[in-house]
Amino acid sequence: MSLPQFKLLRPRTVADAVGYLAKHGSDAAAGDGQHLRIIAGGTDLIPSMRQTLFEPEYVLDIRHIAELNGIREQGSGVEIGVLTPLSTIEHSELLRRRYPVLTEAASSVASPVIRNMGTIGGNICLDTRCLWYNQSLTWRKACGFCIKKDGDLCHVAPGGTKCWAAFSGDTPPALLCLNAEIEIAGPSGSRRLALRDFYTGAGDNYRKLQPNELLTRIFLPETSADYRGVYRKLRIRGSIDYPLAGVAVALRRSNGHIADAKVALTAVNPAPVLVMRATEMLAGKTLTETLAEAVGDLAAKTAKPLTTSALTPEYRREMIRVFAKRALLATND
Ligand SMILES: Cc1cc2nc3c(=O)[nH]c(=O)nc-3n(C[C@H](O)[C@H](O)[C@H](O)COP(=O)(O)OP(=O)(O)OC[C@H]3O[C@@H](n4cnc5c(N)ncnc54)[C@H](O)[C@@H]3O)c2cc1C
Ligand code: SF4
Repeated sequence: MSLPQFKLLRPRTVADAVGYLAKHGSDAAAGDGQHLRIIAGGTDLIPSMRQTLFEPEYVLDIRHIAELNGIREQGSGVEIGVLTPLSTIEHSELLRRRYPVLTEAASSVASPVIRNMGTIGGNICLDTRCLWYNQSLTWRKACGFCIKKDGDLCHVAPGGTKCWAAFSGDTPPALLCLNAEIEIAGPSGSRRLALRDFYTGAGDNYRKLQPNELLTRIFLPETSADYRGVYRKLRIRGSIDYPLAGVAVALRRSNGHIADAKVALTAVNPAPVLVMRATEMLAGKTLTETLAEAVGDLAAKTAKPLTTSALTPEYRREMIRVFAKRALLATND
C-alpha cells in the first residue's frame, strides 16, 4: 500500500509549528481537520496513511523541534518533552526511580525498534483502534465502512450512533495514575490540562485537541513521585503488539498501610480510564489477596470492552480483573 500524496512542513520551533497550524490546521472544507496531520515518530500515522485512514494535504513533521525532546527535573517534579522517544523513557534512571509505572508501561510498547522511533506524545495522541477500522480501503469498502471513517453505522454496536473503537496506548494509564498534566500549544498561546480531561470517551473523536493545536510537554507532579508502580498488559504477540487489555497501578504505603493508590485501564474503553472507587477502597488498608480481588472486580466493572479486537470482550474483561489483582499484589514484592 503506497502513501497518498501530501506536502511536508518542517518547523524547527514550537512557534513555527503553531504558525503552520494556524495557517493550514483548520480548514472548514476538510471537515474534521484532516487537512493537516501532525507526525512525530510516524509509527502509527504512516501505517494509517497507507491504509488511507488519513489523507491529509499537509503533514507537519515536528521531529526537528529540539526543545520538545528530553526529560528535565522541574522543581520537584519532572517535565517530559512530547518528542522524547519511548526507549529514552524506558531507560531513564530518573523516571525508573521516581515514576516506575511509567517506565514499565513504556517498555511494554511494541518492540525496541518501534520504541526508538515512537514518541510519548504520539502514544498519548494515538488513534483509537478497531477490527473494522484498522484495515485497508478495499477491506473497509467491502464491509460498507463505518461511523469512524466514511460510513454511518457501527459493526460492533449495530443500531447505535456511537463509535466504540478502543484507546490502545500503553503509557496513558500509567500517566493517569501519576496525575500527569499536559501542555497544549495553539494560536492563542499555551494551556495546561490534566491528562484525565484530555480524552472524550468517544472512539471517533477521542481527544480534546483543536485542529490548530499540538501537544508540547507532559508534567509529572512531585506528589506522585516514589510510588510503587506496576503495569500489566494482554496482547496476542508478546514481542510486538498493542494492548488488548492493560492495567496500571501506582501505590504508596505508610507504616504498612496504603496511604494512596490509583488504578487505571487501557484498551477496554474508547479512552484510558481511572478506576474511580479503587483509591477510596484501598486507602488506609493493608493489601490482602481479598482486597486485591475486590479491586479487580471493580476494575472489571469499569472496563467496557466490545468486539473491537480479535479477543472476545468477555476474555478481555476477565483479564482486567486478573491483572488488576496481580498488579496490586506485585506492589508487595
Ligand atoms: C507493529 C506495531 C505495534 C505497536 N504496538 C504498540 C503497543 O504495544 N503499544 C502502544 O501504545 N502503541 C503501539 N504501537 C503504536 C505506536 O508505535 C506507539 O503508540 C507510538 O508511541 C506512537 O508514537 P509516534 O511518535 O510514532 O506517533 P505518530 O505515529 O507520529 O502519531 C500518532 C498520532 O498522534 C498524533 N500526534 C503525534 N504527536 C503529536 C503532538 N505532539 N501533538 C498532537 N498530535 C500528535 C499524530 O497526528 C497521530 O494522529 C504499535 C505500532 C506498530 C506499527
Ligand atoms: S466501533 Fe463501530 S464505528 Fe467505531 S471503528 Fe469499530 S465498527 Fe467503526
